[in-house]
Amino acid sequence: RQVTKPITNIIFNFSISTSALTVKSSSTRAAANSGKFISPFTSIAPLKPYLLSEWKPILCGWLCSVLSVYSLSKIIPKVGKFSSLVNPLDVVRLRAECLVLGGLFFVRLVGNYLQQAFLWEAALNCVYKMRICVFHKVLQRDLGFFEGEKGIAAGDVAYRITAEASDVADTVYSLLNTIVPSSLQLSAMAVQMLVINPVLSLLSALVIPLMGFVIGYLGEKLRDVSNKAHLAAASLSSYLNEILPSILFVKANNAESCERKKFQSLAFADLSATMGKKKLKSFIPQLVQAIYFGTLLTFSAGTLLVSKGSIDCSAMVSFVTSLVLLISPIQDAGKAYNELKQGEPAIQRLFSLKTFEPEEIVNPDAVDLDCVAGEVKYSNVSFRYGDNGPLVLKNTDLHIKSGEIVALCGPSGGGKTTLVKLLLRLYDPLQGSILIDGLDIRGIRIKSLRRNIGLVSQDTTLFSGSVAENIGYRDRMAGIDMERVKLAARNASAEEFIEALPLSYETNVGPRGSIFSGGQKQRIAIARALYQDPSILILDEATSALDSKSELLVRQALQHLMQNRTLKFRFSLLTMM
Ligand code: ADP
Ligand code: MG
Repeated sequence: RQVTKPITNIIFNFSISTSALTVKSSSTRAAANSGKFISPFTSIAPLKPYLLSEWKPILCGWLCSVLSVYSLSKIIPKVGKFSSLVNPLDVVRLRAECLVLGGLFFVRLVGNYLQQAFLWEAALNCVYKMRICVFHKVLQRDLGFFEGEKGIAAGDVAYRITAEASDVADTVYSLLNTIVPSSLQLSAMAVQMLVINPVLSLLSALVIPLMGFVIGYLGEKLRDVSNKAHLAAASLSSYLNEILPSILFVKANNAESCERKKFQSLAFADLSATMGKKKLKSFIPQLVQAIYFGTLLTFSAGTLLVSKGSIDCSAMVSFVTSLVLLISPIQDAGKAYNELKQGEPAIQRLFSLKTFEPEEIVNPDAVDLDCVAGEVKYSNVSFRYGDNGPLVLKNTDLHIKSGEIVALCGPSGGGKTTLVKLLLRLYDPLQGSILIDGLDIRGIRIKSLRRNIGLVSQDTTLFSGSVAENIGYRDRMAGIDMERVKLAARNASAEEFIEALPLSYETNVGPRGSIFSGGQKQRIAIARALYQDPSILILDEATSALDSKSELLVRQALQHLMQNRTLKFRFSLLTMM
């Protein structure tokens, strides 16, 4: 390949390295905190702002629960009264009581439905907002979060934002349902029982402290097994996200059976972890049923009291009804505790994506770049990935004047792409500075900096969508200018094959642009960079997959474009020159 204008003043001192990046965030692993009690208030603290923002449906849901519990508390004495209508049989009153009771049942039913509908609305809205916020933050994270030895897998992020966020919705709903509705019903029933007979009430409550202790202990265990289940499911999701796009590679290497085994082992890890979680989760509610042992005591003592005449039969019926209705809110509370312990790791893992040092520390003095001449200067730049990795760049100087085309040649792993990443401020140099038109890039707003740089990278990235959407990527929201798309495609010598497509520029490119050959993808990517009309154009091994004829056409087009432009900055790997 021919270098248009080789640069002479480069001091190149690349050390080939395989450094690993230390990710600042510790979010890839959720803290297991094995066996340590975490107060429910601590674990749900991150949810607070979202819950507060949903105060309206929450309040409505709770008000409906008041209605429902109120009707229930009216139902119970009425149920007791039925026994007084037997001797002698009072048909008129019986009819009247049935009507009132039917009305109360109806109110309870409607109240219950509205309570659940409002609380689900609040829980799902909370999770919707969390997802938006977390994804927004993920997009803002520095590149180091995604790259390197400790980088997070895309599948893991996807799993947290989809499946784990759904778990959080269940937890939020359960909590909202317990805080007011279940507590209200519990208190209402307890008061009814205490009013009817305090001794019987205390007898029924004997098993509660023991039950609470065992449930509390098992809850902590549930958190640990849930954490394991989340990690196993996230690994499965990460694996699938990585392997499915590489299906061609798998098939070409006859690796289907090997991948099947790997999948099987990950799926088995998920199965064991989930099985442990589900079994424990099914066991805890059974402990709540232990309160039924308490009812045995109550029934025996109650029967004794009725036989001695110290409590009448209708009071006993009301008491037993209240006791039975007391069990369901206790069960709800147990379920909420279950959900909370199960949701804790999900909350932790989801929100760990959100807490980080921002990519750009807001610099009030940062300026926007306009009318860029395009002079680029690396001055004494050193850089390493992570805190302890080997130096990838060491005291590197590079001066590219406005309007110059420069080819950087160096061995694979020499640091060429790293230079590009530094110019785009995907990372900051350890030492030294990078200037555009004499301005340190740390003093330029990141958005403005990146707007002026067109990058065609080593790995061509196309997204599902039309050809036009891929070329006019930067304007997808604002509206794509078709004339510019066509011009860019022409200059990237992509016009011919695009127009031969069935729907031309409107043809869907398939997942990751799979309808195209490697060289065609690269030309679309070049067209995308040209569409942007950048002041600085970087081709990072962007023509590696082009045949010599297409490369010549692209180069001629670029040279033509250069004439009206200040600078074209070209990185290209020319193996040994
Ligand atoms: P080139 O583009 O010249 O082939 P790179 O700039 O991509 O080389 O890489 C330079 C060196 O930095 C290589 O040794 C590579 O292993 C290392 N490296 C690149 N990216 C990372 C990363 N995200 N984390 C750790 N090391 C990296
Ligand atoms: Mg490279």
